[in-house]
Amino acid sequence: MSEPAATASPTTGATATSTPGVATATSTPGVATATSTPGVSATSTAATRVAPLERADAEFFAAARLRAARLQPYLATAVFALVPVASSGLGTFAVDRYWRVYVDVAVAREWGVEQSAAVLVHEAHHVLRQHHSRALACGVTVDTHDLWNLAADAAINDDLLDDRLPLPDGVLPRHLGLAPRGLEEEYYAELLDEASEHPHDTCGSGSGGAPADCEIVEEPEESGRDGLDDVDAEAVRRATAHDVTAAASRGECASPGLVLWARDLLHPQVPWRHLLRTALGRPVREVTGEAHADWTRPDRRADAREDFPRPGNRYHAPDIAVVIDTSASMDRPLLDAAVTEINGLLRRNGVRSLVVLTCDVESARPQRVRRLGDLVLRGGGGTDMRVGIAAAAACRPQPSVVVVLTDGETPWPSAAPARTSIVAVVIGPHAPLPEGPGFTSVRITGPT
Ligand SMILES: [Zn+2]
Repeated sequence: MSEPAATASPTTGATATSTPGVATATSTPGVATATSTPGVSATSTAATRVAPLERADAEFFAAARLRAARLQPYLATAVFALVPVASSGLGTFAVDRYWRVYVDVAVAREWGVEQSAAVLVHEAHHVLRQHHSRALACGVTVDTHDLWNLAADAAINDDLLDDRLPLPDGVLPRHLGLAPRGLEEEYYAELLDEASEHPHDTCGSGSGGAPADCEIVEEPEESGRDGLDDVDAEAVRRATAHDVTAAASRGECASPGLVLWARDLLHPQVPWRHLLRTALGRPVREVTGEAHADWTRPDRRADAREDFPRPGNRYHAPDIAVVIDTSASMDRPLLDAAVTEINGLLRRNGVRSLVVLTCDVESARPQRVRRLGDLVLRGGGGTDMRVGIAAAAACRPQPSVVVVLTDGETPWPSAAPARTSIVAVVIGPHAPLPEGPGFTSVRITGPT
């Protein structure tokens, strides 16, 4: 956290420890690790002393942690994975990349359990979102990691505000002239361009910011008792992402930023245009672009070479069919995007006209068109793409490649027809991708 020390609430530890929930806190699993952080070395600076938490402080920390887990139950796994290190004199909380959270308990007692819980959630966000490695990927240096820390804090607090977490006054995007709902990387780039000064305390190396003076230098022991190694950290991230997704699907409060984070972690998005170009590119080039050896036509220069007969070259006429699912459930903007991409790719590869078949449950009408964009598609009812694929394979000349655009709610043939390969383009996030001999499948799920 950046600014809580300056805005410490008058709440005292005395009232905080009488908060409901504290009585059970001493029996939570988190307390056991809180009172004994083996491996915590007694490195210290003049201003800050690092040590395991004293018993009373551990109880306060346990209460704050339990409260944090109740504020955002889907973050409980992450919050309980944090390893507390007493850091008297730090003036705030900070976190390192090994999930060690440095706690100035005197300051935490001034905040009280509720606000300390919100700050713990904030620190958990830094390590969940991998701010340390993302800062490295952005080229953050010792000169700019304060700006990165600021960008990361603004992004986190923006999300926490959605869930009405009682943060002590933290920096928000609007305080920095930034739009809400932005990514850390975008905020960082804008702050770099702006090049103005924003005095800011560090949240520690786990935020991608400057390491706090009190940070333990050693990596966690293999036991993981004094911090999480990369493997454990990834396991906590994935478990948390599942919990966030489940909470969102139940309609429980989860900030949009956190839901997006979970989705990206569990289903990393590769841009579909790239996948589609890869899936289509090779079979299309094989058909249209490359000269094929043809022994039925002698090489016109063969006269100059008496020693060896040579084949001529023949450029195959393009023979590609596109089958388009016209069932009512198709996502039309995504279909348009896919058609535009395929059209561009075919034209770049010299395809001048195409056989297109629109297909619902029973009809598949071959049409020869010059541009996919010229088609008028009318929605039908159900879908059976086997009908369209069989009709495409029956066209003469038989197409070597059949591209199928569908929402995927269809039966598929168990294999591509003989002498034909199928590029199945499934539009939308849910239907399974078809598999089988002669199939290449790609999914399109978003605008990019
Ligand atoms: Zn922070």
